[in-house]
Amino acid sequence: MASPRQNHEQRRLDVAIIGGGISGLAAAYRLRARQGPGGPLSLRVFEACDRLGGTIQTERVGAEVPGDCMCEAGADSMITSKPAAIELCRELGLGDALVEPRSREGFSVVHEQQLHPLPRGFQLIAPTERWPLLRSSLFSWPGKLRMLREPHAPASDDPGADESVESFVVRRFGREAFERVAEPVLGGLFVADATQLSAARTLGPFAELEHRFGSVLRGLRDSSRASSSPAQVSLKDGLGSLVERLSEQLPSSWIELGCGVEKLWPLPPGGWRIETARGNWEAHKLLLACPAPKCSALLSGAAPTLASTLSELRFASCVTVNLVYRRARVVRLPNDFGFFVPRTEPNHILAATYASEKFAARAPGDYIVVRTFQGGALDRAAVDLDDETLIERAHADLARLIGVSGPPRASSLTRFREAIPQFEIGHAARVARLERQVEKHQGLYLAGSALGAYGLADCVASGEAVAATICAELDGRESR
Ligand SMILES: Cc1cc2nc3c(=O)[nH]c(=O)nc-3n(C[C@H](O)[C@H](O)[C@H](O)COP(=O)(O)OP(=O)(O)OC[C@H]3O[C@@H](n4cnc5c(N)ncnc54)[C@H](O)[C@@H]3O)c2cc1C
Repeated sequence: MASPRQNHEQRRLDVAIIGGGISGLAAAYRLRARQGPGGPLSLRVFEACDRLGGTIQTERVGAEVPGDCMCEAGADSMITSKPAAIELCRELGLGDALVEPRSREGFSVVHEQQLHPLPRGFQLIAPTERWPLLRSSLFSWPGKLRMLREPHAPASDDPGADESVESFVVRRFGREAFERVAEPVLGGLFVADATQLSAARTLGPFAELEHRFGSVLRGLRDSSRASSSPAQVSLKDGLGSLVERLSEQLPSSWIELGCGVEKLWPLPPGGWRIETARGNWEAHKLLLACPAPKCSALLSGAAPTLASTLSELRFASCVTVNLVYRRARVVRLPNDFGFFVPRTEPNHILAATYASEKFAARAPGDYIVVRTFQGGALDRAAVDLDDETLIERAHADLARLIGVSGPPRASSLTRFREAIPQFEIGHAARVARLERQVEKHQGLYLAGSALGAYGLADCVASGEAVAATICAELDGRESR
């Protein structure tokens, strides 16, 4: 039996990481080879759930036989324009498992309960090809002509201002472009109220083009380099395989599953006490890698000013429902990857992805997997509805929009409470304020969703950056 002294020593850590999502795991992975004063670092990843991965959650459900369909409850792809997550996959030996979407198809948008494909050449909010736009059924003639006149719209006279997406898109492309594209697409991608979203944070490159070229379309034309790579990739066995591979690289003693942290207290002259239902730990360095509202609650007693700054970052909840249908039961299966739903349409779902059509080998050939999203900033009550209601709402919308008939063959539902940061106007300033606040607390660091970051690439990069800072400090090159 361990003596009380031994037990106490085991509870003294060099580094504690709160949250076993991708941010915390990426940091732990970068710290694994690091030697402490008496050998390898003593480190713990405290994870409240009984699994690692946080909002990355690959599941298997059965259509014909158990587990023959793969569903992503959370993230399903990694953007290629930011390399951190993809490089990490390669480093972990998952390079051969990276998969591209089956084609370069795009998405549709619902308008008056019909699906209308976004015209070819549409770059998020910008129609770069004239003829596909003119032929599109999504827009009215005045709406199309207004979009094409974008190069003649005056540029902002205050390029540094944190403008809303609504204001930016209406100014550049007209109100119809906002209502029929920007609102449903950005509102869906970020489960947000698009009227509140910051253009700088969500449409940064477009705002930059306006600034440099006086017009988004002119800028895209002048600066465009044909790219042969896809915008997103995934992993053959789902993004859960990245979490699995990362955790295999960590000593098992580093992981405390089902161990939610309840309170955090600073220990003078340096270090932190970590209180959990399984007892207390002490750590020299403390990395918070769980959503900012959770961090705020953990620090409310010890650091009220920091806790209040953390609570200024707003987060939304959402529910994903994956539904599996027999292919023959889908009357109007489009040949793109899914659709977004404007807030003005009478549907409950915000968006849907035909997951099995986007990436190969997600379901047996006779079946399709459709992933739907509900909740978000404009439907905060959804996350508290019962499973049956949420599944029924998703199924009813799919029945109306793509003509699925009969009950789904299988389904899976996941709630993400206060898990998605809202990039509202002022987000960047709030994050900057938060970073300044954190610096005042010795041995304390924030990464990923704790800092209001969203997306695997940014979360991996921020976890890795904190690990590099901690290594540098342990080397005595810097101290904080
Ligand atoms: C539905 C959905 C779809 C998404 N799709 C994509 C996508 O396609 N591509 C993409 O790049 N990004 C996507 N994202 C975003 C991406 O998944 C996240 O930005 C990223 O995974 C966040 O990682 P994280 O480690 O910072 O936080 P999280 O994944 O939130 O992990 C935080 C962890 O902390 C734990 N925790 C919380 N409180 C405590 C506590 N008190 N004690 C101990 N542990 C605690 C939680 O249980 C959780 O495991 C999506 C997100 C969602 C919700």
